Amino acid sequence: MYFNEQSEVFYNGSFLKAKEASTNLYSQSLHYGNGVFEGIRAYDTKQGAKIFKAEEHYKRLKYGAEVMNIQFDYSPEELTAITYELLERNNLKDAYIRPLITTGANMSLLTSEETNLIIQCWEWGKYMGDKLLKVKTSKFQRPNPNSCFVEAKVTGHYVNSILSTNEAKKEGYDEALLLDMNGNVAECSGANVFMEKDGKLVTPPRGHIMAGITRATVIDICKEEGIPLEERFFTLEELKEADACFFTGTAAEVVGLQSLDDYKFPMNWEETHGYNLMKLYKAEVLEERVQEKAL
Ligand code: PMP
Repeated sequence: MYFNEQSEVFYNGSFLKAKEASTNLYSQSLHYGNGVFEGIRAYDTKQGAKIFKAEEHYKRLKYGAEVMNIQFDYSPEELTAITYELLERNNLKDAYIRPLITTGANMSLLTSEETNLIIQCWEWGKYMGDKLLKVKTSKFQRPNPNSCFVEAKVTGHYVNSILSTNEAKKEGYDEALLLDMNGNVAECSGANVFMEKDGKLVTPPRGHIMAGITRATVIDICKEEGIPLEERFFTLEELKEADACFFTGTAAEVVGLQSLDDYKFPMNWEETHGYNLMKLYKAEVLEERVQEKAL
């Protein structure tokens, strides 16, 4: 599904066939989850393949390496150029891009001095389905920000996301919503959350959540479009009185919720700010919004 006979990856300075690449069985990333990754999208725009917010994603990758004490010297510009070449070599325009920094063999609990950079990509259809999600509040909380760097995409942190997604899927839901250690609404297992109440949007502030690049893009669009938005904590009880709710993320883009546990969001999705933002976001990634503004 992710690669075929021809697929190429970037691995420690060169391009090679995915089927020929191998990894170290003794890697600290495999044993302890000490690795850092990104999830990026490229879109087939009228101007050709465009990586959406490459600089922001690669800055976040570098931030993750820094806080985990992983030696990593590539600049966002170098990484972006490598990624464009990788897309071309794989003949991809609509793609998901997965850069991953792994650490070497070191069984002590100190970051290994060896670093590997792997960049993979695979085809990704134009949009995710526009189906509304049925969401379950997870029994798992997001990690305490004093236990790790919650804004770093460290591989080991994703055990929390896997636990909550497994739990939700097992009970017949599409996705999980996680609270923070204080009982406030935090985010989805791999996306940020926004609610709409009386024509106003609310999203949790940074601190207990991933600082999503889609979240930041949506906040910018709201400012430009005059959509009222507030960043503040809110409880599950408040969310269950909201008119509508949506998730944002590189993979999910902007996706609406049908329900949360037993609560059905009452507003018609097509009349919500979320629906409008879903369309504006799609135009933004395809670089069609800029043109509209310029006209
Ligand atoms: N929260 C979590 C836990 C995530 O893993 C992601 C995906 N990186 C997001 C939110 C959304 O972030 P972004 O918009 O940068 O993809």
